[in-house]
Amino acid sequence: MAAQLAREWTGINQFPAATQNKLLELLGKLKSENVSTLTILLMGKGGVGKSSTVNSILGERVATVSAFQSEGLRPMMFSRTRAGFTLNIIDTPGIVEGGYVNEQALEIIKRFLLNKTIDVLLYVDRLDAYRLDSLDRLVIKAITDIFGKRIWDRSLVVLTHAQLSPPDGLSYDDFFARRSEALLKYVRLGARIKRQEFEESRVPVILVENSGRCKTNEDGEKILPDGTAWIPNLVEVITKVIANGSKSITVDQKLIDGPNPNNRGKLFIPLILAFQYFFVVKGIQRAIKQDIKNESKPLWELRDMGLANRKF
Ligand code: GDP
Ligand code: MG
Repeated sequence: MAAQLAREWTGINQFPAATQNKLLELLGKLKSENVSTLTILLMGKGGVGKSSTVNSILGERVATVSAFQSEGLRPMMFSRTRAGFTLNIIDTPGIVEGGYVNEQALEIIKRFLLNKTIDVLLYVDRLDAYRLDSLDRLVIKAITDIFGKRIWDRSLVVLTHAQLSPPDGLSYDDFFARRSEALLKYVRLGARIKRQEFEESRVPVILVENSGRCKTNEDGEKILPDGTAWIPNLVEVITKVIANGSKSITVDQKLIDGPNPNNRGKLFIPLILAFQYFFVVKGIQRAIKQDIKNESKPLWELRDMGLANRKF
């Protein structure tokens, strides 16, 4: 990772004691497993709550939050240290604009990430969105194109606006289950992962409520409708994902350039030549020989062979 100024993580002191203790316990656990840096990347469409989630995790208002689509194109990395542990969180601009994936935003993100190692991707969307469209698949495809399919072994789907009342008398759990299922299906399709493979390494779906009106428990911790204190829960699931045996993703030039179209399929060339030789060339040769054999010889040739006067 390139040298950067990491500030002391003072935001953690803003959390209620219960949250602080759980977070420090999780960081301590990571350190005991020789993990002393954690780099979290947030990506998703615009306005889904990426920047708000960055601020919620850090306990600081550092990322610009806007209710309207006026965010800049530049990603931002916030680095904080605590007891020898470094937490890097990278906030990115939404990569969708006016119904298309914004290629310029993607290029800027790629350049920003060059030579950085991503430990976890948080794919952010809203819980209270009722429809998935082709755009969601495009965003997922764009992410997969940058990092490769492996990124989904290192990902969590994060759903903001978790404090909602489901429509049409659906229970909260049903609503959450349906939304998760639909989103995960889109991840599988957008990333072109086989159903079987995907089922095995399911991407966790985590709920988040960034609003200042988020309910709290008696310890003052922000909680989800089911009572879970969501900040430590999110960090805990992140630590589980990085312990799942998959590797962090280092963004190098090769990864950014993607597979070279000139090399694509080169491996098949000898196979194709062999196929052509045995099935096409040989076949033609055999056909020609057969043809020669079957050909009725002209009289002059038979005469030359001394057969002309023979009776047939
Ligand atoms: P980004 O474009 O993905 O970075 O989204 P922002 O973090 O800028 O948020 C967009 C808008 O949604 C802002 O008005 C936020 O206050 C609001 N917002 C973000 N997360 C939540 C959430 O969990 N609950 C609620 N109620 N509002 C949220
Ligand atoms: Mg933002």
